Amino acid sequence: MSEQGVFPSILTQPSTDDLSRPFWEASVAERLVAPRCTNCGTFRLPAPPICFVCQHRDVEWVELPGTGTVYSFTIVRHPLSKMLNEAVPYAAGIVELDGTQGAGARMIANIVECDVETLKIGDRVEIVWEHVSDEMAAFRFRPIPA
Ligand SMILES: [Zn+2]
Repeated sequence: MSEQGVFPSILTQPSTDDLSRPFWEASVAERLVAPRCTNCGTFRLPAPPICFVCQHRDVEWVELPGTGTVYSFTIVRHPLSKMLNEAVPYAAGIVELDGTQGAGARMIANIVECDVETLKIGDRVEIVWEHVSDEMAAFRFRPIPA
């Protein structure tokens, strides 16, 4: 099933490791968490094995408010597969997350419940979750009404 503006969830089970498992476990509780370097405080999401600022390995998982700002986006108008025939046009965006330093902790996500013709960089958005299984909730963002 598909609806216009919504990129359908494909996965129902996250493929996890130590650097991603906390994110997906929190998703089921509709909590957005991100790894923060315990040495320099830099958020890195998704998490590389070492900090790109100080090369430290250890992180602590911090809950974020789940809000942010559209940093960039594109509107997909041509379906690249049949499963997207009803989804186009949809917005694929990069969201700068509140509570982080920005670069290095941005999320790429479908922006839903928006008019793709008026969406703009700088719009405020909030995360929304879709429970696709007992182990995973997919994330998207939607505009926060002004
Ligand atoms: Zn660091």
